[in-house]
Amino acid sequence: MENHAAPEQEMYQKRIPIFPRSVSGKFRNLKYVILFLAYAVYFLLPWLRWARETGPQQAMLFDLDGRRFYIFDLVVYAQDIFWLAGVLIIAAWLLFFVTGLAGRVFCGYFCFQTLWTDLYMLIERLVQGERPARIRLYKAEMSGAKAMKLGTTHFLWLFVSFLTGLSFTLYWADAPQLVMDFFSGKAPFPAYATTLFLTLSTYVMAGLAREQVCTYMCPYSRFQSAMFDRDTLIVAYDEARGEGKLGRAKLSKALKDIGVRHEQGFGDCIDCGYCVQVCPVGIDIRDGMQYQCITCGLCVDACNEIMDSVEYPRGLISYTSDKALSGEKTRWFKAKNIGYAVSIVATTAALIWSVATRDVLELAVRQVRQPLSVTLADGRVQNSYEIKISNKGLVSSHYRIELDNFHNAELDIGQRDVFTLAPEKTLRVMVRVKVDPFQATQSKTLFHFMVVPQNQKDVKPVQHDAWFYIPQNQLGK
Ligand code: SF4
Ligand code: SF4
Repeated sequence: MENHAAPEQEMYQKRIPIFPRSVSGKFRNLKYVILFLAYAVYFLLPWLRWARETGPQQAMLFDLDGRRFYIFDLVVYAQDIFWLAGVLIIAAWLLFFVTGLAGRVFCGYFCFQTLWTDLYMLIERLVQGERPARIRLYKAEMSGAKAMKLGTTHFLWLFVSFLTGLSFTLYWADAPQLVMDFFSGKAPFPAYATTLFLTLSTYVMAGLAREQVCTYMCPYSRFQSAMFDRDTLIVAYDEARGEGKLGRAKLSKALKDIGVRHEQGFGDCIDCGYCVQVCPVGIDIRDGMQYQCITCGLCVDACNEIMDSVEYPRGLISYTSDKALSGEKTRWFKAKNIGYAVSIVATTAALIWSVATRDVLELAVRQVRQPLSVTLADGRVQNSYEIKISNKGLVSSHYRIELDNFHNAELDIGQRDVFTLAPEKTLRVMVRVKVDPFQATQSKTLFHFMVVPQNQKDVKPVQHDAWFYIPQNQLGK
């Protein structure tokens, strides 16, 4: 009997290697500028020194042991972590806003995956040569020369991966000290583990997986279409111009003049394939918008270069919108975009306000409960409190402790009148409050402790509620 079972489908598609050709043009140059700036910030920031009265002299340091992050003059404590939520909300709004307006420009210009893959491709090209040489090398039998070129490429990739991993680790400790400890084998285990993990993941993602990360692993490429509309900026091929009535045609002597091409019904695309060869994700933009496209603009540069060389107008492939392609006007000012912009401005303003008005002085009060109150020899009743003052600023401060809203009470803080507290330090003080029960009318009185800075006019005094207890049987005595 004949077997009609469907042929078994492969669940795994083998990667088709991509050998992008180099290209020059304004979008390529822009990508180099962004790449240079991003690398300069990432690799140099841990080495930037920053003068502080106490604490690390490093501009950017995430101190997990001390539960605080140093970002230039800002110190973020564990209890300020809601700022991180603010930053994430702003990032989300920004992503929606930019994607709605300009499509996947984040992917094409700013994403770590793109930036690192770009560098790894550059290394590959420097070692193995331009696209035709790389294809020849790929197809060639293994030989000493091939092994040498592949070995050098992978060695350089691993070297960049190691620098990437180590630089990330330097953000979490004093950079010069950690580097010395790292290479003398004295660094803590997490430093080695983090560096190793990032070295391997960078090597795999940027060197081996490359565009597959964007195509298969990144969720953003999948849900971006929800934020696109017909006004969104995309990289697109002008099909009407490129294909004409009879389609594209290779450049020949007879079809070089653009007027002749149009008369004969051919479009402006000379089918050179340059736009496909430069594409880092290996797609043909002439087939229409595809989810793999990271909007890097390299095919725009490539096609413009070709158009210049044959003296045709530029812009056969360009940044445009679906509406512009159909001859309609692109609308940027829409309720959706304005809504995102307003949300970004409002959330950013709230975050800046929260950071700018943060308390650099923190006060906590704990009442001593055993015993809750003591009757002194002179007949007065005494309650005791432990006061905790934290100086979250960057300079030493002097403080006075005072009572507020408790006229008949005496504050006893021992010999000292003014307390000095270094930056990022916490001080615990035992204080006693004494009240004549004869003048009291109730057994429970609410009052405030005040901590008043003495040498910093811009730091506001802080206060904390506290209760004073007098036993019922002592009232009015
Ligand atoms: S199609 Fe063009 S814009 Fe899209 S990824 Fe390829 S080269 Fe970049
Ligand atoms: S680079 Fe321009 S002319 Fe060449 S194939 Fe691509 S679209 Fe056609």
